[in-house]
Amino acid sequence: MYDNLAKLKLVRIGNPVSVGGLERLGEKAIKASNNVVKSYKIIQYDKSFFETEGIEARILTDALNEEIGGHILGVIEMDLFDSDGDSFYGCMFGAKNLKNNVAVVSTKRVFTQDSDMLSERVIKIALHELGHNLGLKHHYNYMGLENGLLCPMAKGNYNKYGERGYVLAIIDSRGYEFCEDCKKVLRVYNSISNQLSK
Ligand SMILES: [Zn+2]
Ligand SMILES: [Zn+2]
Repeated sequence: MYDNLAKLKLVRIGNPVSVGGLERLGEKAIKASNNVVKSYKIIQYDKSFFETEGIEARILTDALNEEIGGHILGVIEMDLFDSDGDSFYGCMFGAKNLKNNVAVVSTKRVFTQDSDMLSERVIKIALHELGHNLGLKHHYNYMGLENGLLCPMAKGNYNKYGERGYVLAIIDSRGYEFCEDCKKVLRVYNSISNQLSK
């Protein structure tokens, strides 16, 4: 399982962000994960059924697991849905399949013409979902990192923004590093994985 987490497959479905944006994501993922993720590879994955308006996150993550397998972060343009769970606006920014190591991010609801800002948002959501792949949980405290930004796993202070402004405000105020509490968990993972690979 830990060996599996070391190799991240960034699966680009369609044309959601530039390949350069995904390379930045890969670098940030290695750094933020405290080296639990050791390398990344970009895989282009195109399927005709992805040209629909939206897709159930569970179906997409299951398909990626079955057809590609391993530690996957998929990035997709279309909406992600979760029919059984709760989600903002009936859609999701990102999702993680609890049964495997596959997470996905959608650019649909965070789209902006500013391509740098778009890849920044994608990276921040991706770090959150990747955090779930690495065993991290949400925390609702508003405590930030030393540089004043939020940990990618922070859900922030909901009431400060109201429902509609909440998500984008939180995403934009997140940083690229996990907080000390989250890093403690990553260090434990890392030492287990190093022992196992000896
Ligand atoms: Zn989450
Ligand atoms: Zn944290």
